[in-house]
Amino acid sequence: MAASTPVPLMIVGAGPTGLSAALFLARRGVPVRIIDAAMQPTTTSKALLVNPRSLEMLKESSVAARIIAEGWAVKGMAMHRGNREVASVDLQHQMPQLPIGLAQARTEALLNDALEAFGIHVERGLSLQALQQDAEQVTLTLQQADGSTQMVQAPLVFGADGARSVVRHALGVDFAGSALPEPWLLWDVRLDTSLDPLRAHIGLQPDGFLFLMHLQAGIWRVIGNGADPLAQLPCGSVPGEVMWQSQFHIAHRVAGKASVGRVALGGDAAHIHSPLGARGMNLGIEDAYVFADCAFDALNGSLERMQEYAELRQPVHREVVRNIAALTRLMRGRPAPLCWLRNTLMPELVKVAPLRHRLLQTMAGLDHPLRTRL
Ligand SMILES: Cc1cc2nc3c(=O)[nH]c(=O)nc-3n(C[C@H](O)[C@H](O)[C@H](O)COP(=O)(O)OP(=O)(O)OC[C@H]3O[C@@H](n4cnc5c(N)ncnc54)[C@H](O)[C@@H]3O)c2cc1C
Repeated sequence: MAASTPVPLMIVGAGPTGLSAALFLARRGVPVRIIDAAMQPTTTSKALLVNPRSLEMLKESSVAARIIAEGWAVKGMAMHRGNREVASVDLQHQMPQLPIGLAQARTEALLNDALEAFGIHVERGLSLQALQQDAEQVTLTLQQADGSTQMVQAPLVFGADGARSVVRHALGVDFAGSALPEPWLLWDVRLDTSLDPLRAHIGLQPDGFLFLMHLQAGIWRVIGNGADPLAQLPCGSVPGEVMWQSQFHIAHRVAGKASVGRVALGGDAAHIHSPLGARGMNLGIEDAYVFADCAFDALNGSLERMQEYAELRQPVHREVVRNIAALTRLMRGRPAPLCWLRNTLMPELVKVAPLRHRLLQTMAGLDHPLRTRL
């Protein structure tokens, strides 16, 4: 009698977290399905930095090499007050590999290419509506773009469906934390500037925080929480054509549980925080890596590894979100007395070797060991 075909593990969400999980599992020969509610992949730049920890995890596939070939190495950071550079940090020789600047849409496209080489295609226009589980399996209710629904079974589910995760809601898991009141403005904008495009730039503004990073061919990412960030660019930089504009609010939240039974959460579904430190996408890729290891064993009879996933990841999520929240409070330049303290202290603090090392470890994603087992 022919052996029955195994039922695929289900990944909900084809952002960087879901795509990475599918890739790590496919490399281990695990059958997976990956669905996404959106009809098309994202086209926006969003996360711009792939950190050394992510590159290490993606080294075994072709993806790290392709990210390095297509992106650009970020060689340092500079801090500006007005038109004066008041501090700088050289990243060269300080990290095992320099962080790579690349628009998130391209990182996702490269992950997707690698996945397709395994014959796995994202099933688009398919959204999770509900989910239940028993001792044997998970049952998912999926809706197609035409509104029709279908029920499918899976032995395990990875919820990588972003900050408003339906998987997290279906599990009844809370997402406690706090939010900052002010809106943060974002542009991908053409700049006429003398700023060094190989470094990231931070503006210590009188009314907030400014971040600038070169994207490609004269287009820069600008993020700020002041009244009019584009009017306060350092080094006399002059903004031109706006390619993309957005606005967001910053919240710091961690899911109360990272797995329940046969279902786990990863990426923004499990944690959100400010973009300072460039950890969001990268931490999601790390979740995917650890999940793949745990899920492989769970499918081979060690179901307790799903609980171990939560025990491994939750302390990491809590610590990273706590540290990024503290960094954001320090850097956002509000209220005014804290702004004065930041402007006075920060340029001096980054000259102190242990503090600079800690900042770089955070940026590199190397502020905790990568553990796949307790
Ligand atoms: C402006 C901005 C700048 C950022 N900068 C950085 C940065 O510099 N560095 C960094 O590391 N991070 C950054 N981030 C954060 C980063 O973009 C996110 O952390 C990252 O996209 C999270 O990936 P994810 O795969 O977990 O979730 P998402 O990218 O949100 O993907 C979730 C996917 O799930 C799908 N989905 C949702 N609900 C369902 C459903 N019910 N059924 C099926 N599919 C569903 C969605 O369509 C989506 O494709 C930034 C974010 C923003 C907005």
